[in-house]
Amino acid sequence: MFDKVLIANRGEIALRIHRACREMGIRTVAVHSTADHDAMHVRLADESVCIGPPSAKQSYLNTAAILSAATITGAEAIHPGYGFLSENADFASMVEEHGFTFIGPSPDHIRMMGDKITAKLAAQRAGLPVVPGSEGALADLDDARRVAEGIGYPVLLKATAGGGGKGMKVARGPDEIEEAWRLARSESAAAFGNHDLYMEKYLARPRHIELQILADNHGAVVHLGERDCSLQRKHQKVLEEAPSPALNGQARDAIGAVAAQAMRTLGYRNAGTIEFLYEDGKFYFIEMNTRLQVEHPVTEMITGIDIVREQVRIAAGEELGYEQADLRFAGHAIECRINAEHPETFTPSPGLIGVYHAPGGLGVRVDSALYSGYRVPPHYDSMIAKLIVHGRNRNECLLRLRRALGEFVVEGIDTTLALHQHLVANADFVNGAYDIHWLEKFVAREG
Ligand code: ADP
Repeated sequence: MFDKVLIANRGEIALRIHRACREMGIRTVAVHSTADHDAMHVRLADESVCIGPPSAKQSYLNTAAILSAATITGAEAIHPGYGFLSENADFASMVEEHGFTFIGPSPDHIRMMGDKITAKLAAQRAGLPVVPGSEGALADLDDARRVAEGIGYPVLLKATAGGGGKGMKVARGPDEIEEAWRLARSESAAAFGNHDLYMEKYLARPRHIELQILADNHGAVVHLGERDCSLQRKHQKVLEEAPSPALNGQARDAIGAVAAQAMRTLGYRNAGTIEFLYEDGKFYFIEMNTRLQVEHPVTEMITGIDIVREQVRIAAGEELGYEQADLRFAGHAIECRINAEHPETFTPSPGLIGVYHAPGGLGVRVDSALYSGYRVPPHYDSMIAKLIVHGRNRNECLLRLRRALGEFVVEGIDTTLALHQHLVANADFVNGAYDIHWLEKFVAREG
């Protein structure tokens, strides 16, 4: 096992990784920008290194500075968390070339899944069902028209370099394709420096259901069940739950077995998430995330498995030590992402936190790097806390969530706590009757 791990991230996820390492007896190195010198992940780590100015490009994305920090502190492995360099195959290669262990999959798997088109082809070859669509990137607008006629409107244009829901536009009919093409191209060029697009059938009312996978370096692969992440705003997840209110045990076992088998076929290792859209009882692969997900805690709550610990163990060459049949799913878990944003306009609201009080009690977990007197910097993602609640069943989980949200106090800045309070009082949400478009309509109505 490693003696020392460098955590190439910030905020709640840096803290989350630190906690797993600490419990494993591993010393931690935090890296931070000048804007984060007083951050909780820096305070709790055994050592810390300043790697640059506030801009992420010059700090948390600064490969040379991160590798130097690992060298001078004598770290043996690097955990990238999510976001930043976590899905950068070149970074993963460089980590290994410099003699460190990258806590994650191989650079080849990151590269394969990082491009939407190679990912979809690989998934298809490995036996996963995919959304009907173009064979690869579209040549031009005429090609887009042809493919759209073939699969039938409505269609979705998506960036091959996509991420975070950017560069995605729907065309409901032939009269909308030109506009959608133009907008999706310019948006993806701006976001990714690449304007290549591909096309998929636009599913009208699917749920977003994803499978958590763990694979060791010795051929063992298990799935930890699914997460339902259908509650999204601008293609960004807002609240996630496990298990999905739309699946039964049989359906879970079936898609889980297919997903695990696909990972075996691809020779995947470490943790990963396979994302599907689910409509009328059918699954359609949309992408795979080759990293830890923001919403991993809901899976931890229902399986009792510490996913970060497993990532570290796998990277150190240990065997999983259990099989699918050994895993048990218990109860229900929900995660609310709390952002430093106005709950109706979603305008970012960085600034000084006054009173901070996190809820507690049985079945309540808060993953956050906030504290009273902390100043949320304006330079990074606006998510400041995750409230995760577990109950013996969905009903108990909902009652507990309502209670916990009522205790949560974050003063001084706007947060999306009020949005979650409205959500848990809504009958559709309580009944689990929602698809990926539901939250947008809810926000429009409530706002
Ligand atoms: P990104 O990598 O940008 O997050 P994804 O392919 O994961 O892109 O899609 C993000 C979200 O966009 C999905 O969770 C879903 O809400 C929506 N979406 C993606 N593909 C389709 C589709 N074919 N039909 C309808 N909605 C889709």
